[in-house]
Amino acid sequence: MTQEFWDRKHETLPLRDLQDLQLKRLKTLVSYVSKSNQLYRKKLTEAQVTHASIKTLQDIETIPFLTKQDLRAYYPFGLVCTPLDDIVEVHASSGTTGKPVVGPYTAHDVDLWGEVMARSLFANGLRKTDIVQNAYGYGLFTGAHGFEKGAQKIGAMVITISSGNTERQIDIMKDFGSTALACTPSYSLHIAEVAEEKGLRPAEDFQLRLGAFGAEAWSEEMRSSIEKRWGITAHEHYGLTELIGPGVVSECEYKKLHINADHFYPEIIDPKTGETLEPGNEGELVYTTLTKEAFPALRFRTKDLASISEETCECGRTLPIQSRIKGRSDDMMKIKGVIVFPSQIEAALMQVSGMSDNYQIVKTKQGDVYSLSVEAEPVEDRFRQGHLDDFEQKAEKEIFRVLNLRVPVHAVQPKTLPRSTGKAKRVVER
Ligand SMILES: [Zn+2]
Repeated sequence: MTQEFWDRKHETLPLRDLQDLQLKRLKTLVSYVSKSNQLYRKKLTEAQVTHASIKTLQDIETIPFLTKQDLRAYYPFGLVCTPLDDIVEVHASSGTTGKPVVGPYTAHDVDLWGEVMARSLFANGLRKTDIVQNAYGYGLFTGAHGFEKGAQKIGAMVITISSGNTERQIDIMKDFGSTALACTPSYSLHIAEVAEEKGLRPAEDFQLRLGAFGAEAWSEEMRSSIEKRWGITAHEHYGLTELIGPGVVSECEYKKLHINADHFYPEIIDPKTGETLEPGNEGELVYTTLTKEAFPALRFRTKDLASISEETCECGRTLPIQSRIKGRSDDMMKIKGVIVFPSQIEAALMQVSGMSDNYQIVKTKQGDVYSLSVEAEPVEDRFRQGHLDDFEQKAEKEIFRVLNLRVPVHAVQPKTLPRSTGKAKRVVER
């Protein structure tokens, strides 16, 4: 145990003290938003929630949820709680389905973001001596900016290369001696693939030792594959534009996902009834930002499925632990009565020998019924060996083992499925 912390005081608070702090901050938050935003004021007044009515943390359940629809309805600045003059930075989600979600920050919020990101990256093992290749896309998206702020706060060198131009990524990675890579997990695999095409060995010919990955739901099997391929330790980051961006949850050296719960209060609810579930149960994650100024989110429904536990961790942190994201409830597919998440199919495919990291799930609608098939790329060697029906059958068997559902698998020629420099599109509808 290294016993190193970025912010020892807040990362090792006894549970009771953490809860006291959360309650104090929640009460302040309720008064703050009621005073400073008319939409929040209306919502809380209708629900009869006041500073005084919040007596315990459980009373948070009296606060109405905030949903994506609310954010769209109040786009872009309807939920801002400060004068617009105080906003110094704005980000937004990609907005692939409708209006983008806007994340405005005051100077205080920018500082908070840097702090929680520094805490997260430090827990991953990032230090002042590291050289961070920041291959998240720079732009309105929060990713690149969050990682930059945190790494700089630690004092590491940040290469602000952004995503794309993969050949150049590889040259820079080699020439500058990058020791950490920040990007989506799928993009890290694409970089490795292009490096191999150039005759390089990713695990040996670079200085990389650490990966800080996020913005995608990826399986534990995919993590192992990335770690092996690059010869690194790969860590998961979780966050949302609605909350602050990355910096909400990240992993310690034991790969436990600690929630920065002194700033982001987590709940798990039943996605159907909205009822709060006890620790340990799987459900939809709901987050309240306890300390943000410009745009505080009260009980935001993330649509991400996970569980939370208060188990102690060997690293010494007392911050609660979130499970890895099983999938967004939006990504959930119901096929012949079976609930299917893309990450489950990914995990099954990774068990098949000769399988690469590239696959695509094809969803086909016939009438009102959906069916699934999978296109999977074997590695080059396996493809050349032929007898691909054997490969396909093994893949189908693994998927059946996990889902109890027959999903046809088609082996496709290596390097034919689309590659992504950002979030990979694993499910296509035809
Ligand atoms: Zn830990």
